[in-house]
Amino acid sequence: MPGYHNAATETMDRADLDTLIDERVRYTVKYANDHSPFYRHWFRENGIDPAGIRVHEDLLTLPVISGKTIREHQPPVLPAFSFLSAGWGDIFTIQETSGTSGTPKSFFLAWDDWRRYAEKYSRSFVSQGLGAGDRVVVCASYGMNVGANTMTLAARRIGMTIIPFGKCSFSSRVITAYRPTAIVGSVFKLLRLARRIRAEGLDPQESSLARLIAGGESFADESRAYLADQWGCPVYNTYGSTEGTMCGECTAIAGLHVPEDLVHLDMYDPRMQDFVSDGSPGRAVLTTLLPEGAKAGMLLLNYDTEDTTTVLSRARCACGRTHMRIAHPQRESETVRIFGTPVNRVDIEACVFQPSNMAFLTGEYEAFVYGGDAAGKVVLRTAMECPDPATIDERQVAETFTACLTRRRRMLAPFLADQSLVLEFSFVRPGGLELQAAKGRPRRLTDRRSE
Ligand SMILES: [Zn+2]
Repeated sequence: MPGYHNAATETMDRADLDTLIDERVRYTVKYANDHSPFYRHWFRENGIDPAGIRVHEDLLTLPVISGKTIREHQPPVLPAFSFLSAGWGDIFTIQETSGTSGTPKSFFLAWDDWRRYAEKYSRSFVSQGLGAGDRVVVCASYGMNVGANTMTLAARRIGMTIIPFGKCSFSSRVITAYRPTAIVGSVFKLLRLARRIRAEGLDPQESSLARLIAGGESFADESRAYLADQWGCPVYNTYGSTEGTMCGECTAIAGLHVPEDLVHLDMYDPRMQDFVSDGSPGRAVLTTLLPEGAKAGMLLLNYDTEDTTTVLSRARCACGRTHMRIAHPQRESETVRIFGTPVNRVDIEACVFQPSNMAFLTGEYEAFVYGGDAAGKVVLRTAMECPDPATIDERQVAETFTACLTRRRRMLAPFLADQSLVLEFSFVRPGGLELQAAKGRPRRLTDRRSE
């Protein structure tokens, strides 16, 4: 097992960790009341006495805010940024989220924020076996998101060399010349990279790569396994966001460790309008935790990340870390409901990436939900890319896909049986998917019933 970046904190006993979390909850709430116009007003408006919030359980009694709340408290809606919680002299950078829905959300980061973000990534990288002497290609973009820049700051702390490509379109020359030991990128970019360098005559399995760090989007265990097989090395997950979640999977691959002393996550069910207990899926609701005396350019209390996950364990991990572990978060925006059953992109992805299917496919896919010919019918149409559609065993792929979906979403079985839910499949040549012609983040599961 690899060591720790910050052993004292990462392996702290639960009771001590909870005490530290509660101290930071009190300081953060006071900081919010002293420095954030939004939260000062929010406390007053909701009749909350900030001094009465003493322990992390008290956060469960507060309202939940969302990305919409941030957008409604910044220009152009308001003349000023209500969430800004430090003077301009302390703001090191302004970041934005990608803005898939309307105006991007603005985030203000003090140098203290950057240091905490880098601490989180440093812990995650070390837990994945990275350290001094590693050479890491960063495929995440160096833009208005914090990810790539934070990883680069983390590398400085742990003595890694960063190759800041910012995208995954480099050639095999980069791999043969610099002999990188890790690449950070999304599953699909890393799969495409493997295909490209193989076409250039370099076998990814024979390359210098010792591990891949997947992030930027959720993925199925099946696509991870396929990616690991293509590169002949382990793939570890990270879950980061500009809002400050930076959770990482250690080499035990038993869930993502949440750096609990720096970010607090509670799980919330928006339909029940209540928090849920460990083991139940919910939306991750985030609270920034500031160490005593620290500054924050912007902080969040009870912020709905709109990502769904589950607390897997708060017990000590095989790696020795005590910080809680969560399941791979899935985006709520990538979930559709079919006869009341939630189906996420990851469910579709798991069915595409069944090992027997991957004998025919590249893994690139897109799925659409349509209303059927008759009322009460639903069609789920999945298009899959394959190098040669002429050689594919379409029936086998369809059967494997259907069996997988039935296993993952048992509630759909009766609807499949009476054909109120129909699965349709199409197979396209490389480059033939709709999403390959679209700009921005690819949409792999689209509900077209309301369009
Ligand atoms: Zn662990």
